Amino acid sequence: MTPILQYLQDGIVPEDRQEARRLRIWALQYEIIDGSLYRRSYLGPSLKCIDYEEAEYVIREIHEGICGMHIRAKMVDARAMRAGYYWLAMFMSALREIRKCESCQIYAPITQKPKLNLIPRDTFQPHIWDGDDDTCRIGSPTRRMRLTEVENENDLRLNLNLDEERREMAAQREPEYKKKTEKY
Ligand SMILES: [Zn+2]
Repeated sequence: MTPILQYLQDGIVPEDRQEARRLRIWALQYEIIDGSLYRRSYLGPSLKCIDYEEAEYVIREIHEGICGMHIRAKMVDARAMRAGYYWLAMFMSALREIRKCESCQIYAPITQKPKLNLIPRDTFQPHIWDGDDDTCRIGSPTRRMRLTEVENENDLRLNLNLDEERREMAAQREPEYKKKTEKY
C-alpha cells in the first residue's frame, strides 16, 4: 500500500516506466480521505485500507465472533467489507489466518452423530407453501429458496471487490501452467 500512498500524496512514481504506468492504473482504485487511504468499492462506500497486523486482528475477531462461529474465509472477507475494511490479498490472508485457528482446524473431534433423530421416509409429508411465493409450492424448504435480491447483490459486490486478487493469483499461476503444457 505504501507506493500507492506515496503516489497519491506526493506524486512519487518508480523510475521504471512500466512500473510507473502500472502504479498509476492501480492507484485509480484508491483515494485519500482525511489523510487515510481508502479503496473505492463497487456500488458501496469506500473501504478503509488497513495493514497486515490490523487485518490479522480483524480476521480473528470476525472468524471467531462473539458466538464462536468460525466462519470460512469468503464470509470473513464479506463481513470485513461490510464493516468498511480492506487489505491486500484479502482472501489469501484470511485463509492463512483461519488455518492457524486451533478450535476449528487442528484435529478437533468431529461427531458423526446427527443432531436430531432420523425420520423414516414413510412418515415424510411434503410441506405445501401457503404464501404468494411461486418459487416452490411443494417440498421441504431449501437454502436456494431463501436467497433474496439483496443477498445476490451483496455477493456480486464482494466478487467484484475480490476480482483484482483473483487476477493476481491467476497471473502467478500462469508460468506453472505454461511449464506443464510445454511438457506435453
Ligand atoms: Zn476457527
